[in-house]
Amino acid sequence: MKYKVNQEKCRQCKMCLRSKCPAIKFKDKIIINIEKCTGCGICYKLCPVNAIEMIDDNKY
Ligand code: SF4
Repeated sequence: MKYKVNQEKCRQCKMCLRSKCPAIKFKDKIIINIEKCTGCGICYKLCPVNAIEMIDDNKY
């Protein structure tokens, strides 16, 4: 399991950055580096608008 940001839902509130996750960066928009994502789900729980979505293991 990995996570990605749904850019249409993201409001750039940066709550997910509070997780201090090394896979999440803000550069014009919030980006989750799929290589670094361990699937822990902390950012997923922090996002107030459900903009962080799970990606099926077979789809990345
Ligand atoms: S917490 Fe959700 S809405 Fe806020 S910046 Fe992160 S992905 Fe976007």
